[in-house]
Amino acid sequence: MRNDRLLACASCSINFLWTPAEQQADHEQPSLCPACRHLLPVQGRRRGLVKFYNLRKHWGFITQPDGVELFFHRSALAADEATPLGEGELVEYAVEQSPRGPQAVALRRLALTGTTDPPPGW
Ligand SMILES: [Zn+2]
Repeated sequence: MRNDRLLACASCSINFLWTPAEQQADHEQPSLCPACRHLLPVQGRRRGLVKFYNLRKHWGFITQPDGVELFFHRSALAADEATPLGEGELVEYAVEQSPRGPQAVALRRLALTGTTDPPPGW
């Protein structure tokens, strides 16, 4: 007989229940709460925060979770993203090697509901 287990999310530190039904379905103990799992980037993509964007030159840098800064150009932004990126915005992207080094491509902003605060852990 399994019981609810209280787990702590590795990303946001919130406690969440791992229900017996989920324990049977998942087998492996989840490390992230349901909300963070929902927010996980698609495989092969990463998330970071816009550190800086030069409106005139159309390029900027993203601060990645590991602290490494990544270059991006406006052309990396999805065509339906009408407004320029601002500092502190959460973005999702893929990384591509260019002649000048790694850069963000297929950049998309992630809407955070009503806050521009970075997610916990930043
Ligand atoms: Zn979480």
